[in-house]
Amino acid sequence: MPVYVYQAVEPEKGCAKCAGEFEVTQSIRDERLSVCPDCGRPVQRLIQAPALGRSKFDLDYRAKRAGFTKLKKVDKGAYEKLY
Ligand SMILES: [Zn+2]
Repeated sequence: MPVYVYQAVEPEKGCAKCAGEFEVTQSIRDERLSVCPDCGRPVQRLIQAPALGRSKFDLDYRAKRAGFTKLKKVDKGAYEKLY
């Protein structure tokens, strides 16, 4: 089952659990949490797909650091000239 990461909407007012990020294992069919299970304050799900999303971000980040973004644009430009 996927693990979702939540955090209090106002972390400075949250409890020990929701003041920081906390993970909740939920079925895809489950409703997302709207309040902290411990203190009942509003929480939001952080944008973070498990594993897959994280690794894609890492790849993008690495590509940018390595300067691949620039090369990509050049490739795209060359590709567009073919038409
Ligand atoms: Zn809480």
